[in-house]
Amino acid sequence: RQPVIDVDSWHQGVCRFCGTGCGIKIGMSDGKVVDVKGDPAAHNRGRLCIKGILNREILYVEDRALYPMIRKNGELERASWEEAMELIASRFSQSIQNSGPDSVAFYGSGQLFTEESYSANKLFKAGIGTNNVDGNPRLCMASAAVGYTSVFGKDEPMGCYEDTDHADCFFVTGSNMAECHPIVWERLQDRKRSNPDTFLIVVDPRKTRTAEHADLFLQIKPGTDVALYNSMIYEFYRRGLVDLEMIEDYLSFQSGSNSITEEQFRSHLEKYTPERAASVCGISAEQIREAAFRFGNSPATMSFWTMGLNQQIQGTAANRLVMAMHLLTGQIGRPGATPFSLTGQPNAGGGVRDTGSLAHALPNGRLVANPKHRKEMEELWNVPEGTISPNPGHHAISLFQAMNSGDVECALIMSTNPIQSLPNILPYRDAMENAFVVVADAFHPTETTKYADVVLPAAMWAEKGGVFSQSERRYHYVPNLVEPKGEARSDFDIIIDLADRLGHGDLFPNRTQADIWEEWRKISAHSTYNFEGITYERLKNQPGILWPCPDEDHPGTCRRYVPGEDPLVKDEDARLDFYGRPDGRALIYLHEQGEPYENQNEKFPLLLTTGRVLEHWHTETITRRVDDLKNIKTDFLEVHPADAARYGLQDGDDVRVASRRGDAEFVTRITDDIREGLVFATFHSAKHLVNKVTSDAVDPFSRQPDYKRCAVSIEKA
Ligand code: SF4
Repeated sequence: RQPVIDVDSWHQGVCRFCGTGCGIKIGMSDGKVVDVKGDPAAHNRGRLCIKGILNREILYVEDRALYPMIRKNGELERASWEEAMELIASRFSQSIQNSGPDSVAFYGSGQLFTEESYSANKLFKAGIGTNNVDGNPRLCMASAAVGYTSVFGKDEPMGCYEDTDHADCFFVTGSNMAECHPIVWERLQDRKRSNPDTFLIVVDPRKTRTAEHADLFLQIKPGTDVALYNSMIYEFYRRGLVDLEMIEDYLSFQSGSNSITEEQFRSHLEKYTPERAASVCGISAEQIREAAFRFGNSPATMSFWTMGLNQQIQGTAANRLVMAMHLLTGQIGRPGATPFSLTGQPNAGGGVRDTGSLAHALPNGRLVANPKHRKEMEELWNVPEGTISPNPGHHAISLFQAMNSGDVECALIMSTNPIQSLPNILPYRDAMENAFVVVADAFHPTETTKYADVVLPAAMWAEKGGVFSQSERRYHYVPNLVEPKGEARSDFDIIIDLADRLGHGDLFPNRTQADIWEEWRKISAHSTYNFEGITYERLKNQPGILWPCPDEDHPGTCRRYVPGEDPLVKDEDARLDFYGRPDGRALIYLHEQGEPYENQNEKFPLLLTTGRVLEHWHTETITRRVDDLKNIKTDFLEVHPADAARYGLQDGDDVRVASRRGDAEFVTRITDDIREGLVFATFHSAKHLVNKVTSDAVDPFSRQPDYKRCAVSIEKA
């Protein structure tokens, strides 16, 4: 791309898209964003992927939501902000008055700023009095959050991107980093180029662009991760690769809610010899042995994972076991040795997980169900004792079910497109018809605004300022540089306006986002998620700061739980201090490989798995509107040649894929990169809605749905 030469000024910011959170430089001229380039001072070393390069273009696409709309006689019609907000306030008030606070809900997003999610969470939990606050992070990273919290006592990764420069072995499992987190992937490639002995293990049912680079590729059957990891742990013990000092001093063992001994844990592993696991996973025992040896024996091993692990009914178990692999081998807390989950959105971590904007959660790792945590937050929020409901709200899937049944009458959806991104969407379209639904989005139409009762035009990045936090716990600031398009307003303004109209304006005595950030960073000081030292001023002058960061002189923390690095560590003489756990010991969980929630049969003999491509992002509401990307295909169904022959399909044929829930049509792409018996589609395309087919079965711990494995049939369409 040609550089723009007439730039008046450059401003520091961060990419609007994935959780890699690449630093950008924003070129301005005549009050417009005219260029975006990678920030050489940021962790991405000046690089951007194709989506990042197009941050400027997405501001100026034609197809924006420009003014509020209200559905009248079945059609969305232009309305004033006053009319729209009055209608919303009166419908929410009516429901709260007649049916109680749990009759309303907020469904947010990892694309809102931290200040926006925090304010919405506070309004609903401390103002209205309902915990019906959830959002799209439930669909992508809830299993990682539960994994970290249950193993270490605290959510969020302990490592940082810099670990990539020190690792000698990478274990990439359930992640197509080369397409979905391409700039972290480039950093991994940098390490491989500078140290050719670096070994890359990739675990995936598809031979993705990531797997093409693997030194060892484990093409497992979908949903068999738990057997694989148990078998690798079996091998760690058999080959003497376990770290006895770690086990003795820093680990405890657990089965369900019961403590068990290490011997009991070891004896359960007997079921997972490489030979037995190989037959479950569909790979060879030798591959498992080599993966275990490389993982355990390398000087420093770093794991990356994302949706492939999280979006399974055993997602929490898989997360816990990857963490256990690091703990048991001592591959943790050293440069290059760490488990590291990647996030899909620019602010799902800090904005949603850390602010506790989920149905079961309160800020900074607190839980709704814990009376002490409720009391702490009531004091910090200065609301009367008993204000916060003790009942967890509806998680994403159950929220839309409750909208369908009438239990939830009104919902505010912000910056997300659930009627494309939820699994098994057909019943949730009905939910949109049954409830009074307000959708705030920068774009219209989307699959969700199509069914809304009110559409509010929302400002995009740079049309509003605020804080994002990406995968490595780095907070960084997006500046407000241009006016919102049309009548669009920031989501923050909408939340504060609604708070005023519902009589809860006193929760926000100061009216600006800067004030909310001040409140939030000070609240964090009362927790082990301490980032009190991260001020707007500091964020405006450097490309992000990693928390913990307890005071304004602290530089931020690359590695948590490590004495000498993490300022919250209590025992400076320890090798590690898992201070989030009462006894400072991390937990190793026993998990058995489970049965699938639905089986293949004669009618549905194949399996479907879903994912993404490099050029498009999520439900394409942004990327499909950009000229440079709109012709990139996402309408394909990958089919193995043997399956194609069995069903009489040629490359490029129209093909219908059907499950017990619904069907969708795609174009066949025949490839032996996918396992025989498995087909693959992306969830990007609104024309080819794969989520009419997927299942909304959820992980029992995290309530995250399983998008990675459901039984289907295919036929020529
Ligand atoms: Fe943006 Fe992610 Fe690409 Fe970085 S890797 S430029 S954050 S989309």
